Amino acid sequence: MTEPELHTLPARRGRAVRLKKGESIRIINTHGQQVVDTWAFNADDLREFMSMEHLRASLERIFPHAGDMLVTNRRRPILAFVEDSSPGIHDTLMAACDSYRYGLLGCTTYHDNCTDNLHGGMGLIGLTPPGCPSPLNLWMNIPVVEGGRTQWGEPVSKPGDYVVLRAEIDSVVAMSACPQDILPINGAACSPTEAHYQVLR
Ligand SMILES: [Zn+2]
Repeated sequence: MTEPELHTLPARRGRAVRLKKGESIRIINTHGQQVVDTWAFNADDLREFMSMEHLRASLERIFPHAGDMLVTNRRRPILAFVEDSSPGIHDTLMAACDSYRYGLLGCTTYHDNCTDNLHGGMGLIGLTPPGCPSPLNLWMNIPVVEGGRTQWGEPVSKPGDYVVLRAEIDSVVAMSACPQDILPINGAACSPTEAHYQVLR
């Protein structure tokens, strides 16, 4: 079997791919410290999408693991979380970064952000998302500590770590290589990098 084509998710940018039911995507943390915000939409009705608040209710956990089924805002499976070579630290709590977020962090000029990357990535395949659902933040490390407080951790993944997600319905999967370079969520260097992905047909 030939190796599936390796696609680049450029640093600070978004991409989206269509998956038929049963097809999978392997998302690769090429350099090891990059958070990839990930969304999934029902290809036939973009108003149905993978939903973190519904997922947490379904899992009765705040962190999904390999083997879990990821559900939509209509509470049915959209992606199966099939494989994870990393230590399994991903975030479901934090909204995608956006221009307002960077404004609060002191930016006075435009800063790349995951919300615009969702629109940009889906725009490249001719789609407009119905807003920006809360993403599954792959490799984002948000420790929840005493009192329910959260912290901005650094990824604990290593170069080449990957996850495999399998479409349970015809889906559109969108990804953003998070351009956060003020907080250390993309590693202590605060230097966002590219990632890669493969579609497994
Ligand atoms: Zn982001």
